[in-house]
Parts: sequence; C-alpha cells; structure tokens
Amino acid sequence: MSSIFALSEDSLFWAQEPAPTASAAGVYARVAVERGIETLDGPPGFTYRVDGPPPSVGERVMVPLGRGDASSPGIVLEVGGPELAKGIPAGRIKAIMESTGVVLPGPLMDLGRWMADYYLSPPGMVYASILPAAVKRQVGRRGVTLYSRPANIPDVLPPLKPAAGRLWACVAAMGAGEFPLPLKTLLERSGVKGSKAAAALVEHGLLVATESSTIAAREIDRDESAACSTAPELNADQVRAADGIAATLGRFHVHLLRGVTGSGKTEVYLRVLARCLEMGRTAIVLVPEISLTPQTSSRFTARFGVTKVAVLHSGLTAAQRHREWERASSGAAKVIVGARSAVFAPLASLGLVVIDEEHDSSYKQDRLPRYHGRDVAIKRAHLEGATVLLGSATPSLESWANATGPTARFSLWTLPRRAGNAAMPEVKIIDMADERRRRREQGDGHLQHLLGPTLEKALGDTLDAGGQALLLLNRRGFSGYISCQSASCGFVLSCDQCDANLVLHRHHGLPQGGLVQCHHCEAQQRVPRACPSCGRPLNLFAGGTQRLEEELARKFGSRGLVEGLSFARVDSDAMQSSRDYFDTLGRFAKGELRLLLGTQMIAKGLDFPDVRLVGVIDADTSLNIPDFRASERTFQLVSQVAGRAGRGSRPGMVLVQTHNPTNMAITLAQRHDFEEFARRELEVRKRAGLPPVGRMARIVCRDLDEAKASGAATAMAAALRDAAPPSVGVRGPLPCPIARVANHFRFGVDVLAPDARTLHRVLASLRGRSLLKSDAATAVDVDPVALM
Ligand code: ADP
Ligand code: ZN
Repeated sequence: MSSIFALSEDSLFWAQEPAPTASAAGVYARVAVERGIETLDGPPGFTYRVDGPPPSVGERVMVPLGRGDASSPGIVLEVGGPELAKGIPAGRIKAIMESTGVVLPGPLMDLGRWMADYYLSPPGMVYASILPAAVKRQVGRRGVTLYSRPANIPDVLPPLKPAAGRLWACVAAMGAGEFPLPLKTLLERSGVKGSKAAAALVEHGLLVATESSTIAAREIDRDESAACSTAPELNADQVRAADGIAATLGRFHVHLLRGVTGSGKTEVYLRVLARCLEMGRTAIVLVPEISLTPQTSSRFTARFGVTKVAVLHSGLTAAQRHREWERASSGAAKVIVGARSAVFAPLASLGLVVIDEEHDSSYKQDRLPRYHGRDVAIKRAHLEGATVLLGSATPSLESWANATGPTARFSLWTLPRRAGNAAMPEVKIIDMADERRRRREQGDGHLQHLLGPTLEKALGDTLDAGGQALLLLNRRGFSGYISCQSASCGFVLSCDQCDANLVLHRHHGLPQGGLVQCHHCEAQQRVPRACPSCGRPLNLFAGGTQRLEEELARKFGSRGLVEGLSFARVDSDAMQSSRDYFDTLGRFAKGELRLLLGTQMIAKGLDFPDVRLVGVIDADTSLNIPDFRASERTFQLVSQVAGRAGRGSRPGMVLVQTHNPTNMAITLAQRHDFEEFARRELEVRKRAGLPPVGRMARIVCRDLDEAKASGAATAMAAALRDAAPPSVGVRGPLPCPIARVANHFRFGVDVLAPDARTLHRVLASLRGRSLLKSDAATAVDVDPVALM
C-alpha cells in the first residue's frame, strides 16, 4: 500500500510516497479545499507552495484561504514542480500550513475523482464526505506508552528490587506475541502495584517503552440474543446463488439476488463473505441506515467474530466511529457493516461489496455530493476488481433492467420461497370506501377512524391470541391537513415560507395541545384556536402517527394496550436517537411490546418471528406523491412491510387499507408478483422516456426572487437544448412540486438522455462554458431518486 490512512503515530506526518525533491524552483501542490468552491476553468483545486517536507497525494492539509488567510482543510490532489505554478504570479502563491495527519488511500482518491466528475460536485466536498467527521477531528485519539520485551536479554540480570523482580519474572514468562502492551495490562498481569517497577526495568534495558496512540472509545453495544453463530444448512436455491456469486470473487462482476422477504438472502451474503475472507480479501456490507440495528450487525459479528467485523452507523459515538474506521484502515477488521457512507471504508484488498435492500432510496444522498451509495459501490468495485452483490425482495427497476433482458450486464439469482418452514403472508386489500360505509351503517360515520372495522377486528383478534402486530402509517404528526369547517371559507393552514400545508404535532402541556410545523422548512407556530380567516372552528384531517397512537389507546386501552408499556410509536419524532430506536426494537423482540406503529421506519428489514398481523393504514400516501417513481415506491413499501409478517412458524396476515384497491402497484404487491410489476412499470417508463430506460439529470434553480429563479431556469433549459443532440430531451423549466421552500422559489429542468455518456457530454459542454455550477443557486442531481 502506498499510503496509509492515519494508522499510527509514525504515519501521522508526511509522505509514504516518494515525493519530488525540493529544487531551487520549489515544490508545489494542488489542493482541493473542502469548502464547495469549484474551479471550472483549469484543473481542480488551488496551487500552494510546499515549504516543509512534501505531502503525499491524498493527504489532508490545512491551507490559507481567502483574504483573511483563514486556515481551511483540503486534500492534496497533485504534488509537483514549478509547472503547477505556471501562470500564477509568485507573490500570490501561499504556502501549505500543516498536515492534519490523515491520508486518503489511492483507490479512494480515484473514486473521489470519478464522483466529482459523475455527480458534478466540487472535488473538495467529495473528499470531505469520504472522510467521516470523527476521523477528520481524530476524536478520541490519545497518546499511550506501550511496553515490550527487548530482543536481547542480558545473561546476567542487574540487581532488582522485589517489585521489579516480580514484574520481570512475569515479563520473562510471557509469550512474545503478547507484546506490546500498555502499563495497566502489564501491572494487572503481574499483580505488581505502582509504576516504579516498570520504570526500573526500562532503566535496566529489560523493558522497551514506545510512544503510540490509540482511540479511546466505549465498547459498542451488541445484541447477541437474536444472533446465531452457526449457519443453518442452506437450501438448494441459496446454495446455487451463493456458489454462483462466489465464483466471480477475485474480479469485478455485479450480481443481483432477488429473494422474497424472509427467503434467507442474509445467509447467502454470509456464505459469500466467508469465501471472500478465505481468499484473504476484505468486504463491505451496506445496509440502509434504518435497518442497521444491533440485531442486524450482530448477525455478522456472531458469524465472523467482533474483532474481524467493524460497524459504522449513526448510533455510535464519534470516538467509536473513529475507532471502527481505524480498525478497517489498519487491516484489523476484514468486514465493514455500515450505512451509505461505509462505501468509503478504507479497506485494502477489497473483494466483495454487498448492498442489502439495494432499492432503498436512503442510499442516495440528498445534499452535495448527491451520490448514490449503490452506484458508487459498483464503481469502487470496478476500480478495485471486486465482486458486487445487490440484494432485495423488490429490486430497483434500474438494477432489474441491468439484470434481465438481452443486454443484461448483471447476473440474476432468485430465491422464490421463504427459508425454513415459513410461508409468504396472505395479503388482503381493504377498500376504504367500503369501510367508511360500514362505519356509517354502524352509526359512527361522523368520527374519523384511521383503523377501518376490518383492521380493527383483526388487530383485536391478534392481540387476544397473543400475537404481535405492526401498523404502518407513513405520515408523522397528528394531522396533516388543517382546514376551516366552512366550505365557503375554504381556509387551509399552510406555511408562510413554503408551498406546503402545516402539520399539527401534539405536545401535551402546550396551549391548544401542540404546535403546527412545516415539514419542509421546519418552521413552527402556535395552533390557531379557530379559522384565522372567518373565526369558525377548524377541522383536522389527514391523520398521522400521533393520531393513530391516540386511536389505539382509546380503542384497545381496555384490552391492555398501553402506550409506552405494551405498544410504541416509531417515527423520527418519537425516536430522538438511534438508542431510542434500538431500545424499542429490543423490547419488541423480547415480547414486552405487543405492537409497533410507525412510519417507514418499521417497514424495513425487521425480522421478528411473532409478528402475525401487519396493517397498512393508508397505502395511498406514497401513491400520491408527484414523482414518476410513485408506483414503484408504493409497490416496494407494501411488499416490504408485508414481508415483516409470518416470518416464524405461524402464518402471517397483512391488511392494506387503500382508496385505490385496483391500483396495479397495490394488487401486484398483494400477489407478491415483483416480475409482473417490473414488466408493466418498465413499459410505462419506456413510453415516457424515463429512467431506467434512459438516464436523467435534474437541475433546480433557486432564488428568493421568483422571476430570477424562473429566468435562470429558462436560460439553463435554453443552453441545454442548444447543446443537446436530438437523442437528448430537455423538459422544463417547470415549478418544482413544492414550488417554494423557505421562501426560495424553485424551478426544475430535467435532462433525459439515452445513456450516461451522452448525458455527461451535454452537461460537460455547459460546464466547459461555466454555465453549469453546483452552488447555492443551482442544485444538480445526476440520477435523481426524488423529484420534490
Ligand atoms: P431475508 O434477508 O431474505 O429477509 P433472512 O436471511 O433474514 O432473510 O432469513 C429469514 C429467516 O430465515 C432468518 O431467521 C434466518 O435465520 C432463517 N433462515 C435463512 N436461511 C435458512 C435456511 N436455509 N434454513 C432455515 N432457516 C433459514
Ligand atoms: Zn415551510
């Protein structure tokens, strides 16, 4: 390895790579500063003079920036002679201030370069996001003194005091592999108290002390209860897939493993991972942030051992994250299990990247750099000759298109059945129009119920029979639509700064029982007592998770369902930290909690065998989003949450409430028929010229002034049309679905090209003329996954 990632004190300063020797004319470096400054004319980065020892490429250094010479971090892109300074007046070139001690390995530098080009992002920002903040700040790093036994021990021992003698006896008896070790451990082992004895041994040359550093962090909490350390015997489908995938280890190839929920995909990952480790190579396992629970990570640690597996997720402290990263970088850990950014784990000799739930939209970062973790993983594997394994019950149409048809580039493996004895759950579609009618007939049609009579009865039966249940409602808060009772008034409470309705969040103890909040700009206000326009009372429609919570307590309280004690709400409001979320899942796993209700946080990846009923309160929330992927999202969400039911020995039942009972996404999810869904949806996309049939980039122009935003977008669209060959379509400008956010007006232009190369040629030609820049006024999103 040519450069190392902040390994130890020795590598903290400068140069593993042979650097150019300083000539009379000097050494210079090009540095990409981490601020989002783009230099479109000329090569990326700024030139700095190197006065001290030359840095290596990939080294993170501090450089003076701007008029005040503020010390700013950046990554060294290139080190060279005066040619780097050509054309810049000598007096204007400033010197690098110092190293931060962190060096990005070569393969990650290459990956970053590709990302900056592909996603049109300033390189400095790309490198900044490759490095976790905890690593940049070196959180938890402490100096330590380590002791080892010298190679040559004198034949005749010097006279030693009794304590030092006892310590020496212990040191002499230890195995060579136990050194070096910290003083504390040494004293514990020997039973000697105080450090004087050790100092005496050092003085006599019987112990050697070396300065080093470690990262002090608490042990990571693990949940070993659910983990099984021995592999079950794989079934025939699993064996076929695992063998087929393992056959390409050692070279770049992409596999798609489509397995119905509970089919044992994770067991296939584990088998292929074991083969990869046997070959002496390392692996990355990416999991959507929300399903990266202690239960998930312990499936990997239980199989391969905690020392071989590093874990990276948001539930860790900064110091823990830093230590896990370093364990990957030092080669101690061979497998990294983590969320999106773990794709940048500094592992050497990467052999395999697994992307679980590869369709999950959380793999796409929604701020600069707007990269897709799956696609970056494929690129990284390509650069490093590794195998990629994408797994999902409901693959993205992008991956499906790549794995099927005459031009398939990925290998496809299928697990059509659930593993063990579990059967796929029965899914029933509940037409909400019928449910309303039944309520009216029962005489309580005037009440707002989130649970229809069918789901309400099924829930009661499940709880009475001792089963567990999950209820999905993908809407936070109490009410998402607050309007005047008078139709002639028509007032709807909306955000002053955004084109969006305000959402009521209940907080007991506040006046009017809560606050209204905008989910786009986060602005909060008091709840009005009455319609601000006409003074009549307000209606609260579009009930969210808080309202469902209240309804459950009201309807099932007498049957022992008590909020917090036997059921819990799981959404980003109730779960303030990952720890809350992990605790809640742990209590559900133990059976303390009988029911979880929540947003999509409960739809993903959870494997609880006692869940017998899954209810989808409103399958239409994702169907009504103004996005061409609405149907795909709905199919995924319903299939995924349904997949949480009946994973144990008892059959599961899924009830899906909807106002669109004949909608294709819902009826095909009911039949667990992904392939038919994909076939029909791909037809729709093909007719509309939308991804994955072509490639897309979306450019959003923002401004406080509506005319300026619209003008910029119009100019952008015109420049794109001008540069685009006939095969490329330019759509817009159009106001974004949420046309104003935080007082900024937003207009979008979509570019649709037959392939990525054509798309980039068009974008590059605008960049070449400085017409397209990622900055505060312009957001460029290549391969967007959400069009809001
Ligand atoms: P998926 O990732 O496809 O949803 P999992 O790997 O979580 O599925 O497996 C679902 C359940 O089936 C787990 O509890 C797992 O231990 C079990 N399982 C997986 N493979 C087998 C097998 N071959 N025999 C018995 N049980 C299995
Ligand atoms: Zn707002």
